Amino acid sequence: MSKLNKILSQSSCGKCRVCCGFVDSDKWEIPIIFRELRESVEEKLGVKLITRGEEFVFDMKFNGNEISYCPALSENGCTLGDLKPFDCAVWPFRVNKLGEKLVITVSPVCDTVFSLPLKTLTEFVNSDGFAGELFAEARKHPDIVKPYIDGYPIITVEK
Ligand code: SF4
Repeated sequence: MSKLNKILSQSSCGKCRVCCGFVDSDKWEIPIIFRELRESVEEKLGVKLITRGEEFVFDMKFNGNEISYCPALSENGCTLGDLKPFDCAVWPFRVNKLGEKLVITVSPVCDTVFSLPLKTLTEFVNSDGFAGELFAEARKHPDIVKPYIDGYPIITVEK
């Protein structure tokens, strides 16, 4: 999923850690770690994951609007390398359920990507099988499907 570097440079990402910090009201955004990666992530970070649906998440503590950072985050960014959760690898794109349809939206929290023209985002998502890969993972791992939030631009709809 390194395709994102076509629209989001590593240096932009490195300067901003907004997607790796969470507050109590957005803890539902904590990345889902697929069950097949559970043991490897636990071993690498020395943490115990907790279940969410059929998959796993980090066991993070929250205190209102105080930001809690993901335990995989270091001064140099994410330490998970190839184990980086799919949610993070495709962020700020999200698969959401809207009625009976799956859609791909973009989160306004990522300034760099969100400020790109809609045409650029649409072309990117619909090129190189990106949308197909997101929908396929969402069907295989339904816990990555997030609730649709009003105002999030819909980039594409599952065919
Ligand atoms: S797993 Fe890595 S990229 Fe994802 S939230 Fe944690 S530090 Fe950030």
